Amino acid sequence: MSRYVHDFFEGDKDQKDLLGGKGANLAEMTRMGLPVPPGFTITTEACREFLRTGAPPAGLFAEVEVHLRLIEARLGRRFGDADDPLLLSVRSGAKFSMPGMMETILDIGLNDHIGHDPDSYRRLIQMFGRTVHGIPAFDSDDVDECKKVFREHTGRDFPQSPHEQLYAAITAVFESWNSERARLYRRQEHIPDDLGTAVNVMAMVFGNRGPRSGSGVAFTRDPATGLRGAYGDYLPDAQGEDVVAGIRNTLSLDDLARIDPASHTALLSIMDRLEHHYRDLCDIEFTIEDGKLWMLQTRVGKRTPAAAFVIAAQLAEEGVITLDEALRRVSGEQLTHLMFPAFDLDAAPEPLFTGIPASPGAAVGEVVFDAADATAKTAADAAAGKILVRPETTPDDLPGMIAARGILTSRGGKTSHAAVVARGMGKPCVCGAGDLSSLQAGDVISLDGATGHVYPGAVPVRPSPVVRALEGEAIDDPLPRAVRKLLAHADRVARMTVHANADTAADAQRARRFGATGIGLCRTEHMFLGPRRALIEKLILADDSREALDELLPLQVDDFAELFAAMDGLPVTIRLIDPPLHEFLPPLDELAARVARAEALGQDPGDDGRLFTAVRRMHEQNPMLGLRGVRLGLIIPGLFAMQVRAVAQAAAARVAAGGNPRPEIMVPLVGSVKELLIVREEALRTLSSVDGAPPIPIGTMIEVPRAALTAGEIAEAADFFSFGTNDLTQMTWGFSRDDVEGAFFGRYLDLGIFGASPFETLDVPGVGELVRTAVDRGRAARPGLPTGVCGEHGGDPASVRFFHDAGLDYVSCSPFRVPVARLEAGRAAVGTSSSDSR
Ligand code: ADP
Ligand code: MG
Ligand code: MG
Repeated sequence: MSRYVHDFFEGDKDQKDLLGGKGANLAEMTRMGLPVPPGFTITTEACREFLRTGAPPAGLFAEVEVHLRLIEARLGRRFGDADDPLLLSVRSGAKFSMPGMMETILDIGLNDHIGHDPDSYRRLIQMFGRTVHGIPAFDSDDVDECKKVFREHTGRDFPQSPHEQLYAAITAVFESWNSERARLYRRQEHIPDDLGTAVNVMAMVFGNRGPRSGSGVAFTRDPATGLRGAYGDYLPDAQGEDVVAGIRNTLSLDDLARIDPASHTALLSIMDRLEHHYRDLCDIEFTIEDGKLWMLQTRVGKRTPAAAFVIAAQLAEEGVITLDEALRRVSGEQLTHLMFPAFDLDAAPEPLFTGIPASPGAAVGEVVFDAADATAKTAADAAAGKILVRPETTPDDLPGMIAARGILTSRGGKTSHAAVVARGMGKPCVCGAGDLSSLQAGDVISLDGATGHVYPGAVPVRPSPVVRALEGEAIDDPLPRAVRKLLAHADRVARMTVHANADTAADAQRARRFGATGIGLCRTEHMFLGPRRALIEKLILADDSREALDELLPLQVDDFAELFAAMDGLPVTIRLIDPPLHEFLPPLDELAARVARAEALGQDPGDDGRLFTAVRRMHEQNPMLGLRGVRLGLIIPGLFAMQVRAVAQAAAARVAAGGNPRPEIMVPLVGSVKELLIVREEALRTLSSVDGAPPIPIGTMIEVPRAALTAGEIAEAADFFSFGTNDLTQMTWGFSRDDVEGAFFGRYLDLGIFGASPFETLDVPGVGELVRTAVDRGRAARPGLPTGVCGEHGGDPASVRFFHDAGLDYVSCSPFRVPVARLEAGRAAVGTSSSDSR
């Protein structure tokens, strides 16, 4: 037979599943010998039984009576006694804290004949009426008035039997698990619906017994900044619920020290013990009854991302936790949050609206209501940013979203079209902010995508202190210090290293300041843009392309030499040209128009005519799957050879100048080992013809599913693998990112086809399986084969943990995400936290 009731002195803090968070921690404090009023916990199992059958489990109340006798014996007071009665509180408490979502009833056990203060009796009738009978909150200080309202609503008198009150209160707590607001909260916080709540029954203590009494809440550190030092609110002559209700202005703990120094000292010493015991920030509820301190609740407290870093680093410094543990207590998501520029909240007015924080970042701009206005006015006046305000967005709004600084919608949530697209663009977005009809076009607003607040006017924005410190600025602030300390530890313990995707020396320098230890992807295509476009036209039009390639060569040598200098001593992986060449030429319709105009004027279209013919010839239905990557190297004579030669010459020049260049050459879009072998042969010939270059490994990207499946063969011809997870995702799912993300991903997310965009977080069962397969087969063929990833997934926290598990040697991501990837690579190495962060 199940036992549904556990006395506080029987449990401990690790029994949250059975006793709920509140019950487990009350038990723990009881065990520690702290002054907790005696009581017991009815298990979550009893609640689940109730939810299954609709009735309290048989024998439950008999068990309750047995434990009630124990409380009576310990306090020497009887429940229902006429003169000096024991009163009880009945409190909900699930595994995960659901603040204010379920019910608590205080002062159970009073009736017309039991001696009491009228304030407590009135409170009981009100709370009992609301919780047990759903009577809407009613304001009255008068007991008779309250009893009248109770009778009007229920058709009966307030129950005079203390036991009947107790059983009804317990049942009502079970029922409150399924209240509308509790269900909504669980959905938002991803808390399962079938856990059930525990019920804590404990002896009442009274903070409302005059000036030597009171109630308070406190934190062992500041949950906003993480700074050391107790911090709390105290209300003299009040019961606990009044403190949080904000009825009266509260006092500080320093005030308590003046009013009641003995209780203050006792409180601080208990808080100190709790923090050492839990080895973390604790928040507590306490009550002082006539100069005697009682502990009513504690738990590991929620905190801001900044506080999470500061607290973890300080606890490690104090020797309370290890640095490994500190690393487990922070996350890449939190660090991402801390790296965005933020509004100066001291300078912010009251928010106009608060919606769902859908994509972090701070944006200031003028309200525009449609996409055309966003683009038109931005083109006219680039300085005045726009905030696109819509009921919700559709793919038609895309140009406006691109032009706007931020996006605000009245409908939709974190998976709406607006949210998905904005996150993909890294643009601040607030969704579902409700009625926005008070806004006028042209109003200036400030939108905080991290909190969901929308402020009137232009709130000043300040760059993140974390980023400033990473950039090398000396900032005397505990937050950047904490971030630096935990990142340094992450670097020490991580198995994977973190490289950056960087195409220019400036990007490479920034990446290096952010802690990248190499470049995992240098895209060479940008080196063909701007004035160099003319050379590409020449390359395509000329019968003999050699001349154009000869002109490109010295330009590429300079590009690479700069990169090698910026990354001296660290690997720089250069990807040979990947996109279809027609991307560098004018668009077909533009050329058609030029040719038509010339012909209408009776002129010779000249180069335009030849370009038009070439572009028409090169036109592809699906450029993503067309003539690109390794295919270019096999079809356009001399193109790859020119790039390989440029890499070798640049490296030789750096060596001659006393540098230590470490180039690697990477061939994109390989699907068959035969493609790679041909390119590799040619590259090796070219390399051997350049004097003074260091050894240069030649590897391949794995981004076509066929490459992953035949990785065993491909490894024979590759010195390394680098996973291009963007293309690999596109080709595995069979959709192109540009076409689908804005078009229907929102719907897919709503339908639950995936939980996050597979372009943001790696699709582990699908794409991840290909990665694992390729690593295993590649390494079986070539033991110790170096592997990495250079898709943007390399900077996504959840994906980084997967890459660690799959055994990769490094991840590479954009410079801005390097710190997040470093942190997560370290976290992956120390394993995830055993404690619940919720
Ligand atoms: P919540 O989970 O919403 O915080 P609680 O169960 O903690 O609700 O109770 C609400 C308020 O009642 C708290 O301020 C708490 O301190 C107070 N309270 C609960 N039990 C007692 C008790 N036995 N004696 C005095 N105050 C109590
Ligand atoms: Mg509480
Ligand atoms: Mg690719």
